[in-house]
Amino acid sequence: MARHVDVLIIGAGLSGIGMACHLVREKTGRSYAILERRAAIGGTWDLFRYPGIRSDSDMYTFGYGFRPWNGTKVLADGAAIRQYIADTAAEHGVQDHIRFGRKVTEASWSSERGIWTVTAVADGGDTEVYTCDFLVGCTGYYDYDKGYRPHFPGEENFPGPIVHPQHWPEDLDYRDKRVVVIGSGATAITLIPAMSDQAAHVTMLQRSPTYITSLPAEDPVAVGLKMARVPAAIAYRSGRARNIAIQRASFEFSRRNPSLMRRVLLGAVRAQVGAGIDMRHFSPRYNPWDQRLCIVPNGDLFKELRSGRASIVTDRIEEFTETGIRLASGEQLPADIIISATGLTVQMLGGVQLVVDGVPVTTRDLVLYKGTLLGGVPNMLFVLGYTNASWTLKADLAAQYFCRVLNHMRSHGYSTVVAVPEDDDRSPGSVMGDELNSGYIQRGDAVMPRQGTRGPWRVVNSYFRDRKQLRRDAIEDGVLRFGRRAADVLPEAESRSA
Ligand SMILES: Cc1cc2nc3c(=O)[nH]c(=O)nc-3n(C[C@H](O)[C@H](O)[C@H](O)COP(=O)(O)OP(=O)(O)OC[C@H]3O[C@@H](n4cnc5c(N)ncnc54)[C@H](O)[C@@H]3O)c2cc1C
Repeated sequence: MARHVDVLIIGAGLSGIGMACHLVREKTGRSYAILERRAAIGGTWDLFRYPGIRSDSDMYTFGYGFRPWNGTKVLADGAAIRQYIADTAAEHGVQDHIRFGRKVTEASWSSERGIWTVTAVADGGDTEVYTCDFLVGCTGYYDYDKGYRPHFPGEENFPGPIVHPQHWPEDLDYRDKRVVVIGSGATAITLIPAMSDQAAHVTMLQRSPTYITSLPAEDPVAVGLKMARVPAAIAYRSGRARNIAIQRASFEFSRRNPSLMRRVLLGAVRAQVGAGIDMRHFSPRYNPWDQRLCIVPNGDLFKELRSGRASIVTDRIEEFTETGIRLASGEQLPADIIISATGLTVQMLGGVQLVVDGVPVTTRDLVLYKGTLLGGVPNMLFVLGYTNASWTLKADLAAQYFCRVLNHMRSHGYSTVVAVPEDDDRSPGSVMGDELNSGYIQRGDAVMPRQGTRGPWRVVNSYFRDRKQLRRDAIEDGVLRFGRRAADVLPEAESRSA
């Protein structure tokens, strides 16, 4: 595989594979390679192996726009998603372009040469150097090496395993064991029903509740269309359009009518958990969609709680003890195994150090142009999907936009592109701060790009507005500056009139 390519993608997860497929499908004619630190395709869906791992987005919108998801399940399990990504790669001939076991550590742009020089460390420890015209970060948004796990007082006294779901031991035997899962997010909510059939008992211990909503495990419309033998591509397109609209409507309705939405969501939970369970455990202190909504298929979590095989406790941890966890209320939770489903450590660009013309660049100081190009960094695109909708919806749009820019550059003979912000285009808040206030997003403030104040610098997190901006709006808008290799970057006025 060549050490110089037109486009170098970092990461072979959902976004990196999608990006490569778009490069092929949209006939950009550019050579490309993917550097992937792991040994397999799939990213998140290869890394996370805890029991029950599944999407919490519906698969019509979590699947790629260009390749139907043929299942009828609303949420899919990790293995099925991994397979879908791998099959998509195979169908587009992407595998042969991936170099596995390469962790990118630094990427350095030279305006003089008009190229990126990328340093990667191979599994064996050797350093490899690649060059490319365009760099694309598809590294996700968290640190692969360590999940977020606070230190718990007295944890050294607890004799059993303390497991983080990001590093699930293959041989963890929880049969007939008392398990306490700390957390209230999608992972905790998935783990409870997945473990409670074998464990002696599973307790979900949360500091504060999350909004949970139940959806049918099988999409009745998808099942109907399949039975009626409607072609997969048509069924997928219509299901996807329907779900995008429902998702957005539910998000916007929550923003406009938070107390009504809260009543609807809590009413549905009350109907499922029954009278025996205290609704305090399901009544968050925040408004719907201030944090991501958790989805349970066919109310699986509620069923386990009703059966008594699992229970839910809302309290603070005082300390770990030799027999479990002592809570602030004085209650003692007995445990043989403790799962710390406490989340992710947010990281941008997979820890890659960016350097532009010899000056190190920090993602926290940057703003995103149209939510995709890193402001002030030439020839570089960064894929950051939605957190208030399916990640893939944005990843697809970002890839389509990138292909449009590449094709535009080819037809005008440009070789460099950079979006240059003005000083007051940047706000002090993080790019996701306006949308969600989950713990990991607050912790991520230290590394995430800043939110823009206006125009193309403002990340809107709305599929419909992004679709217009990325698929239809003119490429040349006076903010993007194009150049022809190296020193002759066009002045702004010239690029406007080009
Ligand atoms: C448990 C879990 C469940 C989720 N469920 C959903 C969901 O239902 N819906 C949703 O929209 N989102 C969900 N997400 C968010 C999820 O990460 C995205 O949906 C999506 O998988 C991101 O794809 P990606 O390719 O951008 O990033 P990742 O899946 O994170 O892939 C990044 C890839 O880049 C590689 N990489 C990183 N750094 C480097 C480096 N320095 N050098 C080389 N390679 C590198 C990684 O090894 C990995 O293969 C979930 C996240 C988690 C953790």
